[in-house]
Amino acid sequence: MQTPIRKMSGTKRIALVAHDNKKSELIEWAIYNKTALARHKLFGTGTTGALVQEALEQTVTRFLSGPLGGDQQIGASIAEGKIDVLIFFWDPMEAQPHDPDIKALLRLAVTWNIPFACDRATADFLLTSPLMHDDYEVVVPDYSLYNNRLRNPNQSPK
Ligand code: PGA
Repeated sequence: MQTPIRKMSGTKRIALVAHDNKKSELIEWAIYNKTALARHKLFGTGTTGALVQEALEQTVTRFLSGPLGGDQQIGASIAEGKIDVLIFFWDPMEAQPHDPDIKALLRLAVTWNIPFACDRATADFLLTSPLMHDDYEVVVPDYSLYNNRLRNPNQSPK
């Protein structure tokens, strides 16, 4: 059987999210990488997106603010193959009212095998990868066994 793949072009659709205590760090990182980011299409949660757009003078397509559903919207876009890369500076020191949404977003990033960075060092490594600017074929994990088991719960996995 052929491995399912999804094609990413050289212009990546990058989603940017930062919690309040991490917003200044993300903006600083974005300004430092302004030239590299200009080659890509940017998306973001409401407040983060507005701040990045203002700092870079580059259009950022904005979802709702994170606590109002923006993280969930980005997660859904990942599942639909509409986001290629996630840069998510979440705050490890403070609980958020929307913690379940954050967990769900990180889960979907892994579920769909997209590259994602949750801190500045990883974001640097990611953005400087040659793959950021080339076409890339993402291997889409095969979830057909899960689907079969959901439909036939008594069937043991092969
Ligand atoms: P915000 O959302 O960019 O609207 O602040 C980010 C978040 O808290 O998930």
